Amino acid sequence: MNMTKSYRVLLYYKYVPIENAEQFKEDHLNFCKELGLKGRILIADEGINGTVSGTVEQTDAYMEALNNDDRFKGIEFKIDEEDGHAFKKMHVRYRPELVNSGELKQINPNVTTGKHLKPEEFYEAMKRDDVIIIDARNDYEYDIGHFRGAIRPDIQTFRELPEWIKENRNKFEGKKILTYCTGGIRCEKFSGFLKEEGFDDVNQLHGGIINYSKNPNTQGQLYDGKCYVFDERISVPINKVEDKVVGKCYYCGKTEDRYVNCANPECNLQHVACHECEEEHMRSCSDECREHPRNRYKSKLEQQA
Ligand SMILES: [Zn+2]
Ligand SMILES: [Zn+2]
Repeated sequence: MNMTKSYRVLLYYKYVPIENAEQFKEDHLNFCKELGLKGRILIADEGINGTVSGTVEQTDAYMEALNNDDRFKGIEFKIDEEDGHAFKKMHVRYRPELVNSGELKQINPNVTTGKHLKPEEFYEAMKRDDVIIIDARNDYEYDIGHFRGAIRPDIQTFRELPEWIKENRNKFEGKKILTYCTGGIRCEKFSGFLKEEGFDDVNQLHGGIINYSKNPNTQGQLYDGKCYVFDERISVPINKVEDKVVGKCYYCGKTEDRYVNCANPECNLQHVACHECEEEHMRSCSDECREHPRNRYKSKLEQQA
């Protein structure tokens, strides 16, 4: 039985030159608000990257509008069916670049990028012995779910990745490299960087983890845990065959994959916590945070009392 839900979350990007990007940002915000969408969209001179939620009708209208714009023709949408919005507001922002990529800034994926592998090709490639799988996301994303055997770069933000590659390049030399990220946008740049660094056999997962999970041939297999997403859902399931939990509670170390935000409004640290520890530590990542006068967990308890 396939119940159709009445809302959708769209995830999409396209590297394409946008003239007068700051003006386009204003127009696009108005357009999205008229449609009634919610979400977060980045507009840069080098393209668009967005994730929005809305009803089936609203998201249909949005996808059609983008496809009717010559710049965005052929843009691929990853579609999740949901029961409601995944965002509270609609933001469209202008940024100099689509992903905060530091040294990767000068890479133009329309010129230099790794080979795109379809989900089923990526799945087959992962089973080989001579491959290196590099996760192109941040450490906290890796920690609640990743492809089996993937390397977790020791970095906090994407912009540190080039440096990390240079320091560790002897581990990857001569190997077939597979890279992946949530929706594919980061790998476009990262795999281009690897090519420019002289690696020959560089491959990226087309459409990222989200697209992989929807593929009927892979069913999300060889992905362990959940996939971190940048909206109110925080994470989504991927592997439809095996359901493993790979995260660990920040406090007790027990297997767990639910992220919470530290109750100190000035800290907000996102961390994995089991239900018991959340209660015991008042969802606070440290003693200072627990004793903070505006601790949200504390005020919630007082309201309930
Ligand atoms: Zn715990
Ligand atoms: Zn804290």
